[in-house]
Amino acid sequence: MRILLVEDDAQLGESLEAALRMEQYAVDWLRSGEPVRAALAATPYDLLILDLGLPEVSGMQVLRQLRADKQQLPVLLLTARNTVADKVGGLDAGADDFLAKPFEIAELFARLRALLRRGSEHKSTWLQAGGIALDPVDRQVRFENRALTLTAREFAILEILLRHAGRFVSRARLEEGTYSWGEEVESNTVEVYISRLRKLFGPAAIETLRGVGYRIPR
Ligand code: CA
Repeated sequence: MRILLVEDDAQLGESLEAALRMEQYAVDWLRSGEPVRAALAATPYDLLILDLGLPEVSGMQVLRQLRADKQQLPVLLLTARNTVADKVGGLDAGADDFLAKPFEIAELFARLRALLRRGSEHKSTWLQAGGIALDPVDRQVRFENRALTLTAREFAILEILLRHAGRFVSRARLEEGTYSWGEEVESNTVEVYISRLRKLFGPAAIETLRGVGYRIPR
C-alpha cells in the first residue's frame, strides 16, 4: 500500500512518515499542496492523508481540485480545528474521513485500515493465486493455509504480483510500488526479494521472463 502524506508541520510530518513506514506502508511526504496534483498523476497511490491548514494552496483547495480531476482515491483529512463546519466542509468537498489534531497514532492506523477496506468495496480483501493468499488491509499472508511473516518489501512485491496474477509485471513497476521517493534502490534489489519469495513459496511460484518481468501464474 502506498500513501501520499501532505503536511506542512515538519515535526508532525516526520513522525507520521516514520510511523507509517514502521507499519509497512510505502509513504511519500509533501510539505505543501501544490505538487499534489502532479504526484497523483505520476504515481498510483492507495490513499491520501491531507492536512487542511497548508500554506498558499489550502488542503480544501487541493481536495476540490483532485475530486474535479476524478481522482477516486480515499482521502483522510487532518485538521487542527475540530469544528462541525470544518468537518462538514471537508466531507462535502469529497473527503472520506476526518481526524482532528492531536490524535493517537493507533486511531490514525485504524482509520486508514477502514478506508482501505472500504476502497475494496466490501469484498473480501484477500488476493489469491498459486496457493498464496495475501490480505493487503490487515497485512497477512498465508501459504497452503499456514500464516507467514514477511518483511515490508517482500510483502509489497508479493502484493503487486498477486494484484496482477497471470500477467507479467516489470521490475520498474515493482520498484516503483515498493520504494518511496528518495530511497536508494539498488540495482538487483527486486531479484533479491523475488529469490526470497521463491524460497518461501517454492521455485515455481514466480516465473521470470527475461527482459519483461515476473509473474505469479493464475
Ligand atoms: Ca498545517
